[in-house]
Amino acid sequence: MPFSTLSEIKDRLDAGEATAVAVAKIYLDRIAAFNGDLNAFVDINPAHVLEQAEASDAYRAKHGARALEGLPIAVKDIFCTQDGPTQCCSNILKDFHAPYDAHVITRLKEAGAVLVGKTNMDEFAMGSSTETSAFGPCRNPWDIERIPGGSSGGSASAVAAALTPAALGTDTGGSIRQPASVCGITGLKPTYGRVSRRGIIAFASSLDQAGPMTRSVKDAAMIAAAISGHDSMDSTSVPDAPAIDWLGACDKTDMKGLRIGKPKEYFVDGMDTGVRAAMDTALAECEALGAEIVDISLPHTDAAVAAYYVIAPSEASANLSRYDAVRFGHRCDNPDDLTDMYTRSRDEGFGTEVKRRILTGTFALSSGYYDAYYIKAQQVRTLIRQDFIDAFKTIDVIATPTSPVTAFKLGEKTDDPLTMYLSDIFTIALNLAGLPGLSQPCGFVDGLPVGLQWIAPAWREDQILNAASAYESATDWVKAPVNFGGET
Ligand code: GLN
Repeated sequence: MPFSTLSEIKDRLDAGEATAVAVAKIYLDRIAAFNGDLNAFVDINPAHVLEQAEASDAYRAKHGARALEGLPIAVKDIFCTQDGPTQCCSNILKDFHAPYDAHVITRLKEAGAVLVGKTNMDEFAMGSSTETSAFGPCRNPWDIERIPGGSSGGSASAVAAALTPAALGTDTGGSIRQPASVCGITGLKPTYGRVSRRGIIAFASSLDQAGPMTRSVKDAAMIAAAISGHDSMDSTSVPDAPAIDWLGACDKTDMKGLRIGKPKEYFVDGMDTGVRAAMDTALAECEALGAEIVDISLPHTDAAVAAYYVIAPSEASANLSRYDAVRFGHRCDNPDDLTDMYTRSRDEGFGTEVKRRILTGTFALSSGYYDAYYIKAQQVRTLIRQDFIDAFKTIDVIATPTSPVTAFKLGEKTDDPLTMYLSDIFTIALNLAGLPGLSQPCGFVDGLPVGLQWIAPAWREDQILNAASAYESATDWVKAPVNFGGET
């Protein structure tokens, strides 16, 4: 059971072969056994998990099953939950208890899911390795000396090691897809505006989007179906987003007639040769399934990381100004005056990377530099968006590697922020363009997973799910047992 997919567990629950309580106990036992090694969960309340599971079994007996009835789902520590602390893995939010549930949390509860606990992440979702967490680094179950990616590294590690069958993450510049890639699981970042951001602690508001991290493509679709939809209390949630048949889109077993764009800017010298080889094999498999591979160009790709690292910190510097030690968050002891309280509280509460982003963003937004940096970056963003619009005139989906490298060693990049920022070189552009993207496992290099990324036009997650489910049905990567915990 622990390595089963969400939909397999659903089938067993629906067939009466298991109860939500029994399922919850399996994962609680694994968390108790292995979280010490992985540090994937930062908050877990077993009694509360069992209460939810009991309530779910009772609901099923009385009313029948809802879409996610009794299914355990973990959530990143960035989602506000009324139960337990919401700390964004930052000391500035230490012991913060949110007064309300994020919209996506309400949706999961309404669908009958059992919320397992909060997963580890880079502080305020700023990072690619889950090493900037105030709760200490998370580890990759494929090799615990290596990072699980980030910022949703706790969710990825927990799913990969089967401490939960599924989790939610958030993706501002790659934080669902890159950890999914390096942990060998599936991660879906929906179209910007598909999922409400209300109650998700804001990093960069024009980029942030929540999405599922799962063992299979269908599992990702099940969760996406439950959490997407308009929320009148989030002005960036789109009211009339085109609806798609999430589950129906996962029935594909071939790629006949599918035109896959292969952007030359994503297959460059310098990427890991093993990753490159895995990609070549994956694309050959797609061709064998009936797809046509079309060489395309996304000419402004090389400016994406630079534009992102102006826009995201600018928005972060504004969003994080709310942590003023007055309304909520950490307050220093015995401040001399108001200025001392602000400066010392923020100095004590924020970690180095978060401070670096706030300073960069404040600089980029300051008068005299605003035009040169922020406006320029927004112009580049428009060019990047246009690149995709032009490319999608002749193709259905784009396939790229998710990450240029496999999981690197803990500590390997912590002293070099620029190298760390390049971890997301293949994931950032689609956030700037607001497009959906999915990473799924497509092979191994030296025992470490490689991810294949699919990109589609806005609102066409169905095209991604078509391609990804066909690829998954023809390959065995999702079934590769993680070398962790001794069972499959
Ligand atoms: N690694 C990127 C950053 O540090 C992306 C993070 C994210 O998507 N939350 O900004």
